[in-house]
Amino acid sequence: MKTVAFIGLGVMGQLMAANLEAGGFAVQSFDLNKKGNRKSARAAAEGADALITMLPDGGTVRDVVIDALPSLKPGAIVIDMSSSDPAGTRALGLALEKNQVRMVDAPVSGARFKAKDGTLAIMVGGEKEVVASVMPILQKLGTEIFHVGPLGAGHAVKALNNYLGAAGTLAGFEALLIAQAFGLDPKPMIEAINASTGRNSTTVRKIPQDVLTGAFASGFKLALMTKDVGIAAELARGLKMKTPFLKETLKHWRAAQKKLPRDADHTEIYKYQRSLNRKRGS
Ligand code: NAD
Repeated sequence: MKTVAFIGLGVMGQLMAANLEAGGFAVQSFDLNKKGNRKSARAAAEGADALITMLPDGGTVRDVVIDALPSLKPGAIVIDMSSSDPAGTRALGLALEKNQVRMVDAPVSGARFKAKDGTLAIMVGGEKEVVASVMPILQKLGTEIFHVGPLGAGHAVKALNNYLGAAGTLAGFEALLIAQAFGLDPKPMIEAINASTGRNSTTVRKIPQDVLTGAFASGFKLALMTKDVGIAAELARGLKMKTPFLKETLKHWRAAQKKLPRDADHTEIYKYQRSLNRKRGS
C-alpha cells in the first residue's frame, strides 16, 4: 500500500489526507471544492492501491466510487470513512466485488481535533484479510481501531454511536435550559455533573466549549448529525423494531434542521431548544 486516492477534503478529509501524506503515502486527492491535487475522482483513482472516501453520505460515496471505478486496478481496496448507511455499503461492496475491487467501511469518531492529531476512533467492517491489509493506512489516522464485523458493521456502529451522541446532546441541552430557567449558574452545575453519573460528551465538551462560550463551532454540521440519526432509525426500521426514543430523537433533529441555517453546527440545536421555551413565554 503506497498510493492512496482520497476523495472528500472537507472539515475532516483535508486533515486526514494531510496525515497520510505526512505518514509517507502518495496521496492523489479530489474534492468538488478544488482543494485536491487531481481534477476528478477518476483521475485520483488512477494507479491507487486504495481509494478513501470522506464524503457527506453513502449516496455521494456510491456515485463517486462508481464514477472512479474504471480507473481502479484489480485488487484495489475502497475504504469508505464517511458515515454512510450500512445497507448501501453492502450493496456497493457487492457491485465492486464483480470488478475485483474490495471494500471496507471505516467511519470515524473524534471530530476535527482528533482528525488533526491522527487519534481518531475508527470502527471497521469487512473481511479479516482485507481489513488487515488496510491497517497501515488506518493507523496513520487513528489510535483506537476496532474491527466490529463484516462489511457494513462499521457504518452500523457509527450510526448507533451518533444516535447516542444525538440523544445525549438533546438531554444535556435540555438540562442546561432547565437549570438556567431555575436561576442556576451553569458553570458549577456542569462541574458537578461532570463528576457524576450524568456526564457525557455534551456535558464535558459541547456545553463548556460551544454553548457557554457562544462559539457553536464543533466542526460537525447539524445536517450530518441528523443524517446519522436517520441511518440508525432506518437500520431499526429494516429490522422491524419498535424504537420510540430513537424516533423521538430523530423528530427533534429534523425539526431543528428545518429551523436553522443549512450549514449550522450541530451544537446550534441548543438555539432551537431554547426557542421552544421562548415561544411558551417561559
Ligand atoms: P464536510 O461537509 O466538511 O466535507 C465533505 C466534503 O465532501 C466537502 O468538502 C464537499 O465539497 C465534498 N464533496 C461532496 N460531494 C462530492 C463529490 N461528489 N465529489 C467530491 N467531493 C465531494 O463534512 P465532514 O465534516 O468532513 O464529514 C465528512 C464525513 O465524515 C461525513 O459523512 C460525516 O458525517 C463524517 N464525520 C464528520 C465528523 C466531524 O466532526 N466533522 C466526525 C466524524 C464523522
